[in-house]
This record gives sequence, C-alpha cells and structure tokens, in this order.
Amino acid sequence: MKEQLADILDQVLRRNPGEREFHQAVREVFESLEPVLRKNPQYVDAAVLERLCEPERQIIFRVPWVDDSGRVQINRGFRVEYNSALGPFKGGLRFHPSVYLGIVKFLGFEQVFKNSLTGMPIGGGKGGSDFDPRGRSQGEVMRFCQSFMTELYRHLGEHTDVPAGDIGVGGREIGYLFGQYKRITNRWEAGVLTGKGLSWGGSLVRTEATGYGTVLFAERMLGTRGQSFDGRRVVVSGAGNVAQYAIQKAQQLGGHVVGCSDSTGYVLDERGIDLPLLQQVREAERLPVSVYAERRGATFVPGRRVWEVGAEVALPCATQNELDEDDAAALARSGVLAVSEGANMPTTPAAVALLTEAGVLFAPGKAANAGGVATSALEMQQNASRDAWSFEYTEQRLAGIMHAIHDRCLTTADAYDAPGNYVVGANIAGFTKVADAMLALGVV
Ligand code: NDP
Repeated sequence: MKEQLADILDQVLRRNPGEREFHQAVREVFESLEPVLRKNPQYVDAAVLERLCEPERQIIFRVPWVDDSGRVQINRGFRVEYNSALGPFKGGLRFHPSVYLGIVKFLGFEQVFKNSLTGMPIGGGKGGSDFDPRGRSQGEVMRFCQSFMTELYRHLGEHTDVPAGDIGVGGREIGYLFGQYKRITNRWEAGVLTGKGLSWGGSLVRTEATGYGTVLFAERMLGTRGQSFDGRRVVVSGAGNVAQYAIQKAQQLGGHVVGCSDSTGYVLDERGIDLPLLQQVREAERLPVSVYAERRGATFVPGRRVWEVGAEVALPCATQNELDEDDAAALARSGVLAVSEGANMPTTPAAVALLTEAGVLFAPGKAANAGGVATSALEMQQNASRDAWSFEYTEQRLAGIMHAIHDRCLTTADAYDAPGNYVVGANIAGFTKVADAMLALGVV
C-alpha cells in the first residue's frame, strides 16, 4: 500500500509541476491514509485517491479594471471547484499578491476534507486573485470586485458553487461581489455567497466563527488533559478576521493574549491585547499593527515572528507556512501546551513533527478552523428558510459543531492506533466520508 500511495503522489507531483503548496497539502493527507486503504481496498479499486487529487473543474480568467489614475490593470482570477460529492462547492476567495494556481488548489484540497469533517452537506472549492487590496482606494476595490464577478457569476449558484471570504476578502468585498452578481443575474439570490452583511442576508456569528471555533477546539483539546485557557499566556499570529476573533474568544475564556502580528512584524503587549484598539487600527483605518503598538505603548518588533515570545497556547491565524521548525522549538522551550491552527496549513511539516514529538496538543487547520465554513453552512440554512437566528443560538450551534469535530478526530485517531493524534484523526475522518460518497455516486 505504501508503494501505491507513493506512486499516486509521484503522479500528482509530475502532473502539477511547481505547485509547491498543493504538493505539501496532498503529501500531508497521504501520510495518514495507509491504514485506511489497507482496510478498504474498494477505495483503491475505484481510484478514489487519484480522483480526489484532480479538481472537478478549474477556472482561470482575466480580470481587467481601471485604477484611479485611469490606467488599465490586469489581474488573474481563479476558481477551483474541487469536489462536489457531499454538496455544492464551498470555500472562500483570497485576494493577495501571492495567489497562483498552486495556492488555490492547496486550499481547495484542504477544504474538501474540512467541509466533510463539519458533517454538513458542502463540497469543497476555493478561489481568488493575485490582486493586492492594500493601498487601493474604496473605488478601486469595488471596480476590481465587479470585474471579478463579471466572469465568476456564470459558475456560481446556491446548488453549484458558493464562495465566501478569505485573506483580503471581508465584508466590504463580499458586498461588492454580491451587488454585481445581483445586477448581472437580476436575482437577489442570498444563497450564492456567504459572509454577507447582517442587513442583507448574513448570519450572526459568521464574522467571529473561524476565530471562535479555533479557540473552542483548543479549549476542548486542553480539556482532555484537565487544562483550560484560564490564566494561560496566549499568542496569536495575524491581526485579520480570524486572529481578531481568536483573541476575543481566548480572552472570554480567561486567556491572557500578549501577542499578535501582521506581515510587517509583531506586537508584544504584556498588559494583554486591547481588541477594540486593534480593530480600530486594522478594520476601521486599515493600518499595520505597528500603529497599534505606538498608540498602546506596547512593543513592536519588525520583520520577526511572534512565536519567539513564547506561550502556553499558540494560535497561528495568518497564512500558510508561518510557523517553522525553529518557531516550534522556541514554543516548545517556552512550555507550550497546545497549538491550534486558525489559518490553513500555517505549521510546516517539520514543525508539526517537532510539536507532536514534544507531546504538544496539535490541532490541524482542517479541523480547528472549520467553524467558519460550518457557520457559512448555517448562513445558507437561514437563507433557504428565509430566517435569521439569534447570536446565542448560532454560537451554540457553532460550539456543538466544533466539539463534534474534535470528538470525531479523537475517536478516529483512536480507532487507527494513533491516540491523541488530531492530524491522523482529521485526515482519516474527513477522507472516509468523501470517499464513501464518491463510491456511491459512481465514476463521475
Ligand atoms: P485577513 O485578510 O483578515 O487577515 C490576514 C492576516 O494575516 C493579516 O494580519 C495579514 O497581514 C496576515 N498575513 C497574510 N499574509 C501574510 C503573509 N504572507 N505573511 C505574514 N502575514 C500575512 O484574512 P483571514 O483572517 O480571513 O485569514 C487568515 C487565515 O485563516 C488564512 O490562512 C485563511 O485561509 C484562514 N481561514 C480563514 C477563514 C475565514 O473565515 N476568514 C476560514 C478558514 C480559514 P497583512 O495585512 O500585513 O498582510
């Protein structure tokens, strides 16, 4: 079986040259699957893995728009409709200069397993553009979003493909995208995008869901060792949507959050991060975290990673491969108890190995950050029934989902002789549900 897996992986590497992040994501899942394939030869016979590594559909398109000085700008748009065995393609859009096909495919691949783990009827997809919203005016962002949707709209639909936000795509961008979709199609079709504003079809708790979910997962994980967030020193990377609400929930649970970051460096604030001030700087004024440090009288360390300050709980909530072996070693030396991934694939494979060896509780993103997409599915439910739920009820649903994912990972890991290994648990539980659906649906 090992050789078979190696052959398939080889094929994936050859057929998708240069897509480094995609290779990494596939390799990481394959490493858990050997015992599953041994027990279930039907997956091998039906070439489920080969099929899973090939997205159902990949759309790449030109996004032309005019900047404020009248110059024509060209970006590249992507939507990878990865797998729809469990439901319509579902997954966010990322606007960041680093976006290329390999990033979108890695995110789409991860999304398939994550969405499966939520237990909800959603398939996996992901999209985005190499557009950089930073430094762009409101008008430029709007024109870009309108041009992006002018191509994308024909591929979407509540039963087909339902995007949401990701890095660089928040409430503002979803608004412009939804507006253009509505204009082109002449349909007020709430179920076509999630992360919408509350007055036009959005769900309470969706904004908070990914960060909250990551912390709720970590809390449950700490609970297996009789520990909790209460009084713990916490560091978070990033200062965007996921980071902000991870900070909020960690603080609500009694955690002392002393650090956060962005692409310019990190803030160390031993008094504890002042979230309203951070949100004023990042959300309202769209400024870097150094401005927060300045106003707060905290320390700003440029060009370095926040992990070096040490913590008992670490929450990587920025981007892929942002916590490497050296960072993991620094965290382990500082006595870290748990690492819970709010971002997608933020911890490098060597760092995961080091943390696992050191006995640190480690929650992979496909399980720990699934609260965002799960609440998107709750938004779709509310849209379908033309209803709007209360904050308390929706948060209760989110907590129930995160606890169920946690417990599913744990029991699956146990069943496959890897007790306490959430990576193995998440990969196997996520995989088997999709694989069974693919078998049932035939070769399509
Ligand atoms: P935001 O755009 O709101 O925030 C991203 C944050 O990460 C910013 O602080 C940004 O800093 C920092 N960042 C981005 N790229 C880099 C980089 N290359 N190096 C260092 N820092 C970087 O995005 P989100 O909070 O929505 O997303 C964060 C992560 O969470 C991503 O991995 C995303 O895929 C994942 N995720 C998000 C979900 C959601 O619901 N939003 C759901 C599940 C996962 P700066 O502004 O300086 O670039």
